[in-house]
Formats: sequence, structure tokens, C-alpha cells
Amino acid sequence: MLNIVLFGPPGAGKGTQSEKLIQKYGLTHLSTGDLFRKHLGEGTELGKLARTYMDQGHLVPDEVVIGMVEDKIANSKDSKGFIFDGFPRTTAQAEALGAMLSKNGMRISGMIALEVPHDVLRERIKERGKTSNRVDDQDEEKINTRIKVYLDETLPVAKYYENQGKFKNVNGVGEIEEIFNEISSVIDSY
Ligand code: AMP
Repeated sequence: MLNIVLFGPPGAGKGTQSEKLIQKYGLTHLSTGDLFRKHLGEGTELGKLARTYMDQGHLVPDEVVIGMVEDKIANSKDSKGFIFDGFPRTTAQAEALGAMLSKNGMRISGMIALEVPHDVLRERIKERGKTSNRVDDQDEEKINTRIKVYLDETLPVAKYYENQGKFKNVNGVGEIEEIFNEISSVIDSY
């Protein structure tokens, strides 16, 4: 079973690559950002709570995210494995994910990090903001907050997997297909 953490700052291309990877490997895409946006669209209590953090570019509290991921895993019993996209974003989330998986006889195969310079990220997010309808994609200050939150709170998660010998980075600038091939060759080495 493959369980991959696709890692990288906002705008690195995790969503785009995840879509291609789930097709190739038959995995379940678990994007916490997408799950929150679904709740938001449905107007659930969870969505309303998440919005207060998301619209500011801040992280939703760990216990809320972890509970939502637990539900999604529990409801995906027939899955061949997962691509975790935008999760874990804190070390506490990474530890909770490890515990969740091992309870179900699973483990993380590896983390693949997409590396993209910050000026490229800002341009990509602003470009996406023209069509994504996401408040957090449209405002320079919110974009900067998200990059700062990534550096302060999320980057330590890379170290967490590196310490377990499960970290690999890939250049996230270039043709989508080229990046996809590079990610695929890392996955094929697991
Ligand atoms: P994304 O689509 O992954 O960029 O996520 C959009 C927003 O959802 C983030 O800026 C956070 O506010 C929230 N979010 C998504 N995933 C997480 C997570 N794992 N932990 C905390 N907040 C999250």
C-alpha cells in the first residue's frame, strides 16, 4: 500500500500533481484544503469554523484537522492508499497521522516535497486567484501570511520525515509532465 505525503508551500503545484498521481496509481486524494472548502460550500459548522482561519491565511487548529482526516480515512476502507495533500502541516498532525495509520496497519511510504522559489509561488497564487474564487488567493497580505505560516509551522514537518529517512525533494518549477515524471520515479522506488 502506498501512502504518500505530497509536501510544499502554497502554490507549489500539489493539487495539480495529486490529480495526475491518483490516476496513475489508483490512490485516494486526501486534500485537507479541498475538504474544508467542501464543508464551506455546504455551510456546515465545521466549514464555518474553518473559514475564520482560512480567510486569514492561518492554520485551522490541529484537533479540527485531525478529526476530519480520521473520518475520511475511516470512510475510505477500500482505498489502495492515499496522497496526503496539504496535510500534515504541523508536527502534531504528522504524529497523529502516524498513529492513525498504524492503528489501521498502514504507514507513510514517504514524503515528496515540491521546491519552488517564493517569488514564483506568489505569482502562481495570484494567477490562480483570478479563477479560484478563493479569498486567500487574492490578497497580497494573505498570500504572504500563508507563506510565513508555511515557513514557521509547516517546514518542521519535512525534518520530521527526513529524520525517519522518508524525505525526498523534487524541483517544482518546469513542465507539469516533467515534474510528474520525477515524482513518479520517486514513488516507483518505494
Ligand atoms: P490549501 O488548499 O491546502 O492551501 O489550504 C487552504 C487553507 O485551509 C489553509 O490556508 C488553512 O487555513 C486550511 N488548511 C488546509 N489544510 C490544513 C491543515 N493540514 N492544517 C491546518 N489548516 C489547514
